[in-house]
Amino acid sequence: MKSNIGPSFWGQDAPSFATCGAKSGDAFVEVGMRQTPINIDNKLTTKVNTAALTFQYQDAPLVVSNTGHTVELEYPAGSTIRLGQFASSGTVNWSQATDEFQLAQFHFHAPSEHTIDGKRADMEVHLVHKNLLGDIAVVGVLMNISSDTSLLVDSIMNIAPLAPGDKGVEGVSFNARQLIPENRSYYMYSGSLTTPPCTEGVRWFVMRNPITVSPFAVGRCTRSSLCSLVTEVFRTTTGPSYPRTRERWSSTGSSPPPRCAARMRRASSDPRMLG
Ligand SMILES: [Zn+2]
Repeated sequence: MKSNIGPSFWGQDAPSFATCGAKSGDAFVEVGMRQTPINIDNKLTTKVNTAALTFQYQDAPLVVSNTGHTVELEYPAGSTIRLGQFASSGTVNWSQATDEFQLAQFHFHAPSEHTIDGKRADMEVHLVHKNLLGDIAVVGVLMNISSDTSLLVDSIMNIAPLAPGDKGVEGVSFNARQLIPENRSYYMYSGSLTTPPCTEGVRWFVMRNPITVSPFAVGRCTRSSLCSLVTEVFRTTTGPSYPRTRERWSSTGSSPPPRCAARMRRASSDPRMLG
């Protein structure tokens, strides 16, 4: 007997989850038009020069939660990303209400939810931000196994508790900036939450360059199901109505950054975003 549980059936779970879409027979019926994750097809991206995405992250205590869906670290108030638009003078204009987003939490997926040119990375971290108007912006960073590992991700996975609801605490502080690749080029598109209610209008920024992680981190994430919330429902950018991904390459130029959004699924039992 086929199970009607999982991302492919979220749209049937509650009327408010309809945007997620649901399976009908063997076919998946899409309802939302801008659902995350997507495959980023470089052939379909448009290169634009926009103001840099700036990260103003403060240090935070290392407290790792097992939410039952993923490994998550809540971030204290005061750490932001800032978007902006080039003014004609070449300076960057930004507004605190619309362009400054507070980092609320970040969490992991293994393997990655996004793919680039069809290629899935070993892991992905989603840094979830909100501005004063309640708009959501998520920064996604793909992570691949390498001998040049991330000590921060190793530490996080090392203290991540196996039981849902538990917290792992290490008496040290860290900075989420360590999860952002040095090269700040990114793809951006308008998407959604990746858990119910799959709300659209989320701005997604997927960093163009991956960071590296150890086989230990990926293995612990995957084997212990700590961060294996994999989205079965996968969208592509090739649909006729799908907005094309834009990629930022440099901080010089005069084109304003397009206003855009993204998606993460939200667990019905968890009021926080999962991404
Ligand atoms: Zn996520």
